[in-house]
Amino acid sequence: MNAELQVAWCRRHPKQETTTMTTFADFHARSISDSERNAFWAEQAKLVDWKIAPTEVVDYSNPPFARWFPDGVTNLCHNALDRHLPALQDQPALIAISTETDTERTYTYGELHAEVQRMAAVLQSFGVQKGDRVQIYMPMVAEAVFAMLASVRLGAIHSVVFGGFASGSLASRIDDAQPKVIVSTDAGSRGGRVVAYKPLLDEALQLSSHKPGAVLMVNRGLAPMQMQAGRDHDWAALRALHLDAQVPCTWVQSTDPSYILYTSGTTGKPKGVQRDTGGYTVALASSMDHIFHGKPGDTYFCTSDIGWVVGHSYIIYAPLIAGMATVLYEGLPVRPDAGIWWSIVEKYKVTHMFSAPTAIRVLKKQDPSFLTKYDLSSLQALWLAGEPLDEPTAQWISSAIGVPIVDNYWQTETGWPIMTLCNGVEKQASRFGSPGKAVYGYNVKLIDEATGQELTGANEKGVLAIEGPLPPGCLQTVWGDDERFVNTYWKSIPGRMVYSTFDWGIRDADGYYFILGRTDDVINVAGHRLGTREIEESISGHPAIAEVAVVGVADKLKGQAAMAFAVVRDPRSVETAEQRSKLEAEVMKQVDGQLGAVARPSRVLFVTTLPKTRSGKLLRRALQAVAENRDPGDLTTMEDPGALQQVKELVLQG
Ligand code: AMP
Repeated sequence: MNAELQVAWCRRHPKQETTTMTTFADFHARSISDSERNAFWAEQAKLVDWKIAPTEVVDYSNPPFARWFPDGVTNLCHNALDRHLPALQDQPALIAISTETDTERTYTYGELHAEVQRMAAVLQSFGVQKGDRVQIYMPMVAEAVFAMLASVRLGAIHSVVFGGFASGSLASRIDDAQPKVIVSTDAGSRGGRVVAYKPLLDEALQLSSHKPGAVLMVNRGLAPMQMQAGRDHDWAALRALHLDAQVPCTWVQSTDPSYILYTSGTTGKPKGVQRDTGGYTVALASSMDHIFHGKPGDTYFCTSDIGWVVGHSYIIYAPLIAGMATVLYEGLPVRPDAGIWWSIVEKYKVTHMFSAPTAIRVLKKQDPSFLTKYDLSSLQALWLAGEPLDEPTAQWISSAIGVPIVDNYWQTETGWPIMTLCNGVEKQASRFGSPGKAVYGYNVKLIDEATGQELTGANEKGVLAIEGPLPPGCLQTVWGDDERFVNTYWKSIPGRMVYSTFDWGIRDADGYYFILGRTDDVINVAGHRLGTREIEESISGHPAIAEVAVVGVADKLKGQAAMAFAVVRDPRSVETAEQRSKLEAEVMKQVDGQLGAVARPSRVLFVTTLPKTRSGKLLRRALQAVAENRDPGDLTTMEDPGALQQVKELVLQG
């Protein structure tokens, strides 16, 4: 890194020298103790620029609602772009690479700033202002990043909907977020196959009750678009009218929301995770120092998607807040060949890489020579998150690329890691199978599910919970539904108000945690979190289906796969193998059309009855165990033991 930049960075971050000398245990203890928490986070708050610096650190007078830096005034886009302009104007900020369209473009901080202002001016021309929602339904293209940054620049709240979702999922999010404007595109592309977005968007807008004032379309020239006069507008034409736009940042309270990001829960209705502005900016800036140790001149390559939380935090905001260059990659990890990621590392001298275990398992099936073909000497470490990291995968990639592999565990709700190794504070050895220790700011507890008692012994299994206040950066509430926030997350454990992660875990004698799977009906397919209820609701909408249960079953590549067991209304409709495969395909198509291919079950198997208790409750865990060829455990409450036998036979047949 250039010496001048190093000086500029250190000047901005005077606390650097002191924190690296402390032990992690002390650092963590200070961050959560009642007497030192405020001083700790006041120090972290200096990492970001404030229009009005906060005098109060956290207002926890109305638990579990934590208001971080409540009297501070700032702007997320200012911290990601404007503050860097004096030092980094001509340094790369966004490197947009698409192996789908064979395009590559680097935007410097100055250029990205100009594009974001053009987008902000266009949004303003539609009347977007502070507090309005802007929904973004886009693939991994630079304009999606402009739209996100432009929204927060105006004090508006963005809500990115993953491009793999179909019209039903999009419509429910439109109705919940009620956007003033939707920004979208003609199409995405996956593995060379064009996926038209506009028809899905049009269908979603037919389905939704809320109608946005304007739809801004980015035409990539991949698929024809039917533009609706008066509603749909062309980005290129409007951009041309605002080439010299100067749109100052709208200063907002630290507690004003920056975005909503929907995630799956145990009901069919997705939850809008609402993030603040100041707390999030501080959390990300501080994570770049203490977890990722990134600085200006470094290049961050996160292979997630902007539709997921990892993409929000570590493709866009955190690297830019830290003054780094960030890679936005549209394409598969194996196309044109399995060396593509590593060729990007070589070409752009990537220092930090962040991916998911599933992607590494995909690479593991390819020719290993791709991993040694490129110069990876710039790379400092590979962080992996989103799902359990199995030991063989970690070992394989670690020895193949010769850099440390750092697991990190977190959730859409938290916005940044709950557990990992904070090597920027103190270097600590990793343990295979463990995402590490509780990150500073997180007062993690293991709780006995039945009694609510804290488990303090080594290797005791409990529900992973977090004592309030949640640290900065975590969800403020569920968008528009404070009650759901409290009831879902803070009331699931008897006798105490703690945040439940809904994950099982254990902690060893040295404080390393191990994640043992979900306590609820959420499943994790290739790092994507899916609610089984949502998939069940979509399948039950098929006229031939009377009842259905969806469970997650272990899958070698994706961690878990969704498997559906359906009871049909008329048994004669699934008598022959041909009828069954036809109906299975129809059901899958229905899920594809409503929720998107990401939620499509790997199999739909037809049964005559589902395993239930005598009181009619579905025995989901027993069903899952049998589907995974495991012992279903205690079945004394079961109504009809034959139901599981049938499942077993079907699973064995494949
Ligand atoms: P999401 O909100 O989509 O990021 O999903 C969060 C869930 O993914 C967590 O509650 C865990 O069940 C799982 N998860 C995320 N990261 C890890 C990890 N490093 N190890 C094990 N499970 C993880």
